[in-house]
Amino acid sequence: MSTYKSYSRRTFLRDFGIIGTTALLSPGVFASFSKIKNNRNFRGNGKERLGIALVGLGGYSTGQLAPALQETQHCYLAGIVTGSPEKVPEWISKYHIPEKNVYNYKNFDSISENPDIDIVYVVLPNSMHAEYTIRAAKAGKHVICEKPMSTSVKDAREMIRACSENNVKLSIGYRLHFEPHHLRAMELGQKQVYGPVKKADAAFSFVIGSGGWRLNKELAGGGPLVDLGIYTIQGACYTMGQLPLEVIEARFGEVTKPELFTSVEESITFTLRFPNGNESIHSTSYAKQENHLQATAENGWWKLQPAFGYHNIKGQTGEGPMNLPDINQQARQMDAFVGSIKDGIPILVPGDMGLRDMIIIRGIYKAAETGKSVKLNFGNLNIPGYEVHAAVNEPMEKSL
Ligand code: NAD
Repeated sequence: MSTYKSYSRRTFLRDFGIIGTTALLSPGVFASFSKIKNNRNFRGNGKERLGIALVGLGGYSTGQLAPALQETQHCYLAGIVTGSPEKVPEWISKYHIPEKNVYNYKNFDSISENPDIDIVYVVLPNSMHAEYTIRAAKAGKHVICEKPMSTSVKDAREMIRACSENNVKLSIGYRLHFEPHHLRAMELGQKQVYGPVKKADAAFSFVIGSGGWRLNKELAGGGPLVDLGIYTIQGACYTMGQLPLEVIEARFGEVTKPELFTSVEESITFTLRFPNGNESIHSTSYAKQENHLQATAENGWWKLQPAFGYHNIKGQTGEGPMNLPDINQQARQMDAFVGSIKDGIPILVPGDMGLRDMIIIRGIYKAAETGKSVKLNFGNLNIPGYEVHAAVNEPMEKSL
């Protein structure tokens, strides 16, 4: 551990683009980190940078991921997979993508023969995540899959199995695990900086326009719960540093726009119970604005508001503002995944975490539908270092 502290903490942070944050990790995770110590040629091993192909060129790929891939240090935008040929010329010219690295949904499987592509990033409507993750795994490519991982627990398990059988790594696009305010919130909760956490409260909602596939249950798998509420579930889990035991209660909200919400819920509220006896209270909706993650501990409190956006997250504790930097979450997320591929560093946001959230989401819907509490059974989830994984920013590291 001391070796890690003296050597790899800063080196890891620099190499993986997590400059300004510090990972405080479990012994198992430290052991994996020690591999970095013995592998000083990280940048020189094989390829300098790994190639990523984005599958689905919609809002998130266009507005966030492709621009983030201009800031990554260990990976770059090498290819695209799209069902919209009219988008191709602009992407090729803007990002200098060779034509041989452009695929459509039919010839996608031949990506197996393309050595430029190391990682496939699935950014499609939710119900398509399983198919493209499994096809990418069979093509021998590592996979990042957007959240929610799938539209069913069964699909999530099959995705994990396919990646494992094909010996490729799988990560979920949980970008906030790389964001300084959220890392601080993890640390405050899990390290009990203000004593044991007593309660968490999280809400993420926005007013949706026409909605497109997000309002179609077959394509989305659910409404705001799977799209936005998933961030509040994540927030509660990493504040408590535990997996919830039970959905105590869940209620669908009133439908105010019946013409839009024929297939998925418009709003839902729910309460989770954790092994430490604490509860987290959640709200998510497509019909109002909400955006916070807050916690009360025995000797203090903290609040992120706005909490869940790409930028301008604000944090406050009982002692004052957090004053943490605004960073490119997606660039850090993708660079960290390269670290996991190249040096076996545990994936902080693995497929099992996506599966965990699918199990919780299924429990919440069941509780809302039956009006009864639902116990959660996670089986053998493997989320390395999860319970103690937390990180702080540079200033706090100095003060530790
Ligand atoms: P979008 O609607 O903007 O793009 C979806 C893309 O999928 C489009 O390019 C569309 O052409 C393509 N597509 C292929 N088949 C389709 C079909 N049958 N119906 C509709 N579109 C089809 O969606 P988005 O906002 O880019 O979201 C894509 C994924 O990324 C979702 O899983 C979403 O949850 C996730 N996402 C994550 C974040 C995050 O912060 N991590 C943010 C936004 C979206």
